Amino acid sequence: MNPEKNEEKTNSKKEAVFQSVRGMHDILPKDGAAWMDMWNVGREISELHDFTFMETPILETLGLFEAGVGKMTDIVEKEMFVFKTRGKEDVALRPECTAPIMRSFLQNHLGHFASPLKVFYAGPMFRYERPQAGRYRQFHQWGFEIIGDGDPFYDAEIVLATLHFLSALGLKELRVKINTVGCRVCRPTYQKKLLQHYKANKKELCKDCARRYEENPLRLLDCKAQECRELLSGAPIILDHLCQACNAHLRQVLEFLENNMVLYEPDPHLVRGLDYYSRTVFEVVASDKPETALAGGGRYDYLAEFLGAGRNVPGVGVSIGIERVLEYAASKKLSIGRKDRPSIFFVVVGEEAKKKGLYLIQKLRLARVRTLESVGKKSLENQMRAANKAKAKFVFIFGQRECFEETIIMRNMDSGAQETIPLSRMVEEVKKRLR
Ligand code: AMP
Repeated sequence: MNPEKNEEKTNSKKEAVFQSVRGMHDILPKDGAAWMDMWNVGREISELHDFTFMETPILETLGLFEAGVGKMTDIVEKEMFVFKTRGKEDVALRPECTAPIMRSFLQNHLGHFASPLKVFYAGPMFRYERPQAGRYRQFHQWGFEIIGDGDPFYDAEIVLATLHFLSALGLKELRVKINTVGCRVCRPTYQKKLLQHYKANKKELCKDCARRYEENPLRLLDCKAQECRELLSGAPIILDHLCQACNAHLRQVLEFLENNMVLYEPDPHLVRGLDYYSRTVFEVVASDKPETALAGGGRYDYLAEFLGAGRNVPGVGVSIGIERVLEYAASKKLSIGRKDRPSIFFVVVGEEAKKKGLYLIQKLRLARVRTLESVGKKSLENQMRAANKAKAKFVFIFGQRECFEETIIMRNMDSGAQETIPLSRMVEEVKKRLR
């Protein structure tokens, strides 16, 4: 065969290999241990703080997010994956999970089960954003929600659970940026003041803010565009316009945080990009990378009403960006992920040994002994090399002779000592040595 032609064939084959959708990434085996560790830590912290797992579908009706997150927010206006089902229903891949959780709370009357209801969720969210470092179109969030109680105690509890989660993963020097966005009583007055401030310079606002000026003036405060940043100085802050109830609420949240030695930083420009927030809003950042929020949340006392409940159901929650957390941890060389050595590497030599080998390997695994193998490598040398690479504590060598004699060779990979043990005592002997 003509080698050049052959190469051409290989290249065109390469081009034809499917790629993941832009902005959506695979979690690769090299990162598997860190992800598993994160789930484990998350589960432990959730249990300690009494949050119960719940899950909602990835697909929801489009109207849920329009009503909950807000039609005029960036998320709903520009970032959702929306389509029609075959049944002509308008649906969206969830861009966040608080609205779905509240939907489920109302639909399933979860308020009857606990007061407040404390739940956690974990899973993929979808936003059609411009992909860049730490920003994906499919990303994962771990969320805590407390529904049914408006006490500032629970705002603080959400912040504390978030910090507990992040510090249990090894993240240090975290800061909490915190603000309030007021309530229906005080926010309109503040918004009026804000509009007065911007009125004279309205023409200088960026394109998005020109629109926000009319529809969502609070968002003028957290616009990242340089022209809008410049107009920020001298803008009124909501703290000067809070009603008594919101003022007291904020003061109590901060008191709870202080009592728990939480380093918080009042940020009067923090408003967050979702309409459902009322009163407390916060973000958690690493001190040395304050521009990237690892987690964000707040109170959403009007969300139930937005969703048609006909009444207010107080709630407060947070979502933690898992990719952001793991990427930050990796940049700090924090060792997230299981590092313990495998107990056994099982080497088989010959077809007969392989046949019986799987039975023995399964026996070890059923006895909860972590057992690795690489039977495809065939030769003893290659399998031993793999065992070394895996840093196994012990290697079992099972060849023709052992198969016939019903024994197995056990090699201690640290000392090099080797012994032959009867198969009938295999599990017992391993357990003794691993103790
Ligand atoms: P939000 O739901 O917007 O309050 O965001 C909560 C957290 O989710 C953020 O602090 C980020 O850590 C994470 N997050 C939000 N959007 C993205 C994205 N496009 N890619 C990766 N992480 C994200």
